[in-house]
Amino acid sequence: MPLSFPNASARPGDAAHIRLGIFRGMSRRRLGVLTLALSMSLVVIHDLPASASTVAQDAAPVFESQKLELTEASLAASAMKVPVAIERDDFSLTYYTPVQWPIDPGTRISSYFGHRASPCPGCSTNHSGVDFTPGAGVPVHAIADGVVVSMPIGGLGTQVVIRHTIDGTTVYSAYGHLQSGSATAVGTRVRMGDVIGRVGNTGMSSGTHLHLSIMVGDWNFIDPLPWMRAHVTEPWG
Ligand SMILES: [Zn+2]
Repeated sequence: MPLSFPNASARPGDAAHIRLGIFRGMSRRRLGVLTLALSMSLVVIHDLPASASTVAQDAAPVFESQKLELTEASLAASAMKVPVAIERDDFSLTYYTPVQWPIDPGTRISSYFGHRASPCPGCSTNHSGVDFTPGAGVPVHAIADGVVVSMPIGGLGTQVVIRHTIDGTTVYSAYGHLQSGSATAVGTRVRMGDVIGRVGNTGMSSGTHLHLSIMVGDWNFIDPLPWMRAHVTEPWG
């Protein structure tokens, strides 16, 4: 079976990633199609004895016995079909790391990623993230499992930076201007959805808001909004 792990950045400890490596690279739609196809194959194989037994006017107990045997057979058959499908169609399945929004995604946005007029003395003109204005004290949630690291970003005041492995790639999420004393300590392992701080107005800030930065790989700031929209797997609330 031609298993391959095309993403070389997968970490050795990422067991789930490696175990499901054969699913990597397949679009969600194709994953759904294959899942449907496997389901249909189960249904087709499973339904055969029902039709046969109807024609043959078999008694119910015989049908139940056949049903059990053929279900096991169909399971074995479907297990063998997985690599065949991948090889024939030259695609693989993808395992998605669960990701959620840090706050209600319907929250008003006051500043977008990239170049901007500085909103306050000392505020950046090349904005490294996106600013949400949910109100003071609103809980901020970790977007994914990870560990809080010490990578302070200038101007963000009380902040939390979390290192994740998302779909096999190292990703950092940073949450800035949190209320003093609300930030989860460096070194803490967090799970997706854990409250890691509360919205505040610390650091270089023109008002109470949450600054969210997303960094991919080696500390590259990217526009958080399209990245989040592409990676969020969990419905809000
Ligand atoms: Zn900001």
